[in-house]
Amino acid sequence: SWAHIPQGPPDAILGVTEAFKKDSHPKKMNLGVGAYRDDAGKPYVLNAVQKAEKKIVEDKLNKEYLPITGLPSFTKEAATLAYGADSEPLQEGRIAITQSISGTGGLRIAGEFLSRFYPHNKKIYLPIPTWGNHNAVFKSSGLETEQYRYFKKSTNGLDFEGFLEDIQNAPRNSIFMIHACAHNPTGVDPTPAQWDELSKVIKGRGHFPLFDMAYQGFASGDTNHDAYAIRKFVADGHRIALTQSFAKNMGLYGERVGTFSIISESLKEKAAIESQIKLIIRPMYSNPPINGARIVSYVLSDPALYKEWLGEVKLMADRIITMRNKLKYHLVEDFGSKYSWDHITNQIGMFCYSGLNPEQVDRLIKEYHVYLTKDGRISIAGISSSNVKYLAEAIHEVTR
Ligand code: PMP
Repeated sequence: SWAHIPQGPPDAILGVTEAFKKDSHPKKMNLGVGAYRDDAGKPYVLNAVQKAEKKIVEDKLNKEYLPITGLPSFTKEAATLAYGADSEPLQEGRIAITQSISGTGGLRIAGEFLSRFYPHNKKIYLPIPTWGNHNAVFKSSGLETEQYRYFKKSTNGLDFEGFLEDIQNAPRNSIFMIHACAHNPTGVDPTPAQWDELSKVIKGRGHFPLFDMAYQGFASGDTNHDAYAIRKFVADGHRIALTQSFAKNMGLYGERVGTFSIISESLKEKAAIESQIKLIIRPMYSNPPINGARIVSYVLSDPALYKEWLGEVKLMADRIITMRNKLKYHLVEDFGSKYSWDHITNQIGMFCYSGLNPEQVDRLIKEYHVYLTKDGRISIAGISSSNVKYLAEAIHEVTR
């Protein structure tokens, strides 16, 4: 019998969508889910992706198994997108890389790899707060999760001093998991000058940086700009590890396309690392799915599709920035809110960490049919021109 099995808790983020679906109010809004919506509130399949899919069908490719580490043309293009074509370790062929089941799968491979082979300890430092799944993924991989300060409630911005202190105070050679851009859930990123300082201090303590890049291009609309931290750390000589996701920036959520990569010192070291990555993946899922990787590979390797994709990334990022501006404008100018809502426009990427407390969130849900997570995180992608003023009014009413 399975009677001894306790009921597990529902997922904090997916639970919001379930509650939203049950609500029949015409003005209901779902600001929980981290998926892009167009200005009509509909999921958006990128034109570049649709064209790549059409080409894939026309090319009549077979459906044979991929190698354990995935589609080589995909991993090559993905690495170039993240590290930059002029990256030294990339040009020298020193980056070990594998395709992964999107960002989450990349993080899980990272966790398994570090748990087996990181020579110093099993501690991984995560920002407070962080994406809810990070803790679970790394614990499931056998790592011990620790925390570092990241967000300052009083300013709704970066706790730079706290971050630096925690880097200094962590035992030498600790693993630091860092959001490369568009930090989830806060939307708060270090400035380039702050990244420079972080790189220096992390290096000084001998820490190992693992970057999670789930939003390249989504933060600023510029894929190079959003890769600043990665490229700066690499240029400073950190041999980083990196996970990538193509869920958001190519709208390939359900296709599950991502990577895990790690910079090695030599070609020999790279070969050994890749052999171990294969030993991690083979008993988990054998080899990754082919379709999403093909789509990304087609988009990134075809100059016309690539250009169209960059335009669409910018379009998505710009719509989000417009919604931030409108939300703040309505709150301050139309409803005369006495609070500073500058953080709505200072924060970047998919989310706004609004500063709303759990009681206020409860009122938004019950009285205004506006659904979001208890921590006050608003998915800006869920706002549109037609409901941004309604949202501003609701927020104003529960905070006045
Ligand atoms: N890391 C962060 C910070 C995220 O926000 C997400 C998506 N919510 C992921 C990783 C992984 O997403 P996916 O597995 O869909 O690529």
